[in-house]
Amino acid sequence: MKYCKNCLNVSTRPNIRFSEDGLCYPCEIFVHPDEIDWGARAEALDGIRAFANAHKQSGYDCIVGVSGGKDSTRQAFYLRDELGFNPLLVSMNYPPKQISKRGVDNLSNLIAHGFDCINVSCSPQTWRRAMRHAFVKYGNWAKSTEFALFASVPRVATAYQIPLIWWGESPTNLLGEMGTLGSNAFDGNKLKYSNTLGGGDINWLLLAGFERKELLQYCYPSDDEMARANIRIIFMDYFMGEFTAHSNGTYAALRGFSMKAANPTVEPDYFGTGMLDEDFININMYIRYLKFGFGRTSDIVNTEIRFGRMTRDEGVELVERFDGNYDPDLFEAFAEYIGISPAECWDVIDRYVNQDIFDKRGNGDYVRRFKVGVGI
Ligand SMILES: [Zn+2]
Repeated sequence: MKYCKNCLNVSTRPNIRFSEDGLCYPCEIFVHPDEIDWGARAEALDGIRAFANAHKQSGYDCIVGVSGGKDSTRQAFYLRDELGFNPLLVSMNYPPKQISKRGVDNLSNLIAHGFDCINVSCSPQTWRRAMRHAFVKYGNWAKSTEFALFASVPRVATAYQIPLIWWGESPTNLLGEMGTLGSNAFDGNKLKYSNTLGGGDINWLLLAGFERKELLQYCYPSDDEMARANIRIIFMDYFMGEFTAHSNGTYAALRGFSMKAANPTVEPDYFGTGMLDEDFININMYIRYLKFGFGRTSDIVNTEIRFGRMTRDEGVELVERFDGNYDPDLFEAFAEYIGISPAECWDVIDRYVNQDIFDKRGNGDYVRRFKVGVGI
């Protein structure tokens, strides 16, 4: 395990790439907004707008997936008020027993600002069974829900014949997830090739006994279907200069978005602006930390370091304090929700701990063997 020389990105992150001189891909390609050739980007944007106007068939010229969170709030406003688009919003909702009150309120707040929105809900029974299977088989309960979430937007886009999909940020440019690298810095058509989605193939659920008719909302359109519908997915962050937890949280809060009181001793998102629409993501982020050695604090500080608002040493201090923190009180509720015991939950987690970088002392007590910022 090694660290990026500039930020705190790690070589254990799935699908990451480091340059020969030790920079992670996002640091290698980062350009400060003051140094961006905005004229060239405006030209690219004109081309995208012309594409949308030429091919829109339903009156909506673009579509964007939303949760009501900080990123989707900023995207919706930016598209409508700054770029002059007429977007259709699509929200894949968590089931009633999982979605948080804050998540409902934030989505309501966004829609109340005058947007058309299609809400997509999946059968909660299938949803929970799929979560359990994803958790037990991959140590990642969100694998199945991400299939539904990522599929929802292109599914509605093909149904409504809206050829332009905006997606907030490029996982390649922001995190170093090279699986989603497109033909240029804003091409998002490879979005489904992330480590989690792996191309969108649902065979892993069919093999586990799910019927295809239960999984219709989990099916990402095939490459052929996307090509026939002439769909283009565009990463919006390329056109915005800054698209970070810091900038988007501030922007959304000024428009009625509700945040959490930050409590990084149990939730490593020390801004309190992320992943607010349900609570179990806290456990997933903890498992991700045990698998790969980085958590939500790392994601935030890496961006802050690139934008020059934080030094690498300050980042190390925050990551040491907060990454790997989780909320133990959520375990029983999570176990009950997916239908296994808390003890079984810990058995599953144990199987996924990367023993090269952690030592185990007890349930939930894993000690890192690596030094933050240095590696192992
Ligand atoms: Zn880096």
